[in-house]
Amino acid sequence: MSNQLKEELVRRLTEAKWVEDGGNPMLIISVGGDGTMLEAFHRYVHHVARVAFVGVHTGRLGFYADWRPEELDLLVTSITKGSVDEQGVMDIVAYPLLEVTVVHGQGQRSRHLALNECTVKTTEGSLVMNLEVNEDHFETFRGDGLCISTPSGSTAYNKSLGGAIVHPSLASIQITEMASINNRVYRTIGSPLILPAHHTCLLKPQNDVAYQVTIDHLSLIEKHVEYIRLKVAKERIRFARFRPFPFWKRVRESFID
Ligand code: NAP
Repeated sequence: MSNQLKEELVRRLTEAKWVEDGGNPMLIISVGGDGTMLEAFHRYVHHVARVAFVGVHTGRLGFYADWRPEELDLLVTSITKGSVDEQGVMDIVAYPLLEVTVVHGQGQRSRHLALNECTVKTTEGSLVMNLEVNEDHFETFRGDGLCISTPSGSTAYNKSLGGAIVHPSLASIQITEMASINNRVYRTIGSPLILPAHHTCLLKPQNDVAYQVTIDHLSLIEKHVEYIRLKVAKERIRFARFRPFPFWKRVRESFID
């Protein structure tokens, strides 16, 4: 289904004189599901400031993949005629991203952008992390792990952990717990926290163990971690909005209808 639809899209856009340019694209059309959009985002993450994404779903309605296969005609017309002006400017909606910086000893660091979330767990035993907000100690977390999500990722893993659904117009990140241990010795807030764009969260390990850090569908093993810094990224993901499909309508159609 996805391949057939992709071939049909390529054929019709080529007829309309659009050129397929995987190296330097202006519009990225992901055909599949939200997972496919996550892959497309990471493939083109270095172009994120100037490309626009659009998602067609071939299974259930997605949050990023919100065009139905039956709407192919409308999508092709919108791309080729409707919403692109003479300068090639499209009607765009931009969503916040999460910046994750893993800092190791000797100043080594790696920076990642997440569209949905970052999760932190250990490869052995429970996760023990000091959580700082704006350089102030907030709590020592002990439990299965922590999930830090974007607003558009709030309907994914975050939702399964009891986090709130956050509208993507709110530039923020949300921290949710995975099975925290709360007793007379260990204490965590127990509620999801939502931080605004000018706040930073640091996770500082208490032990020098290996950590499993996920960035959306990607999984990394990080050793000798000094701290992990999480904040709203300065970059945003841009979606081509060829027709209105309000976020709360997508939430209702995905989870309630
Ligand atoms: P996957 O395990 O194959 O699929 C995860 C499911 O999450 C798919 O049904 C996917 O939708 C859906 N999804 C992805 N982004 C979403 C969003 N923003 N809002 C609502 N649903 C969303 O993994 P994957 O396809 O590689 O996706 C990785 C994502 O899986 C992670 O970013 C994480 O959010 C999610 N995940 C969730 C849990 C959980 O809820 N317990 C656990 C691990 C990972 P499609 O079917 O349309 O692709």
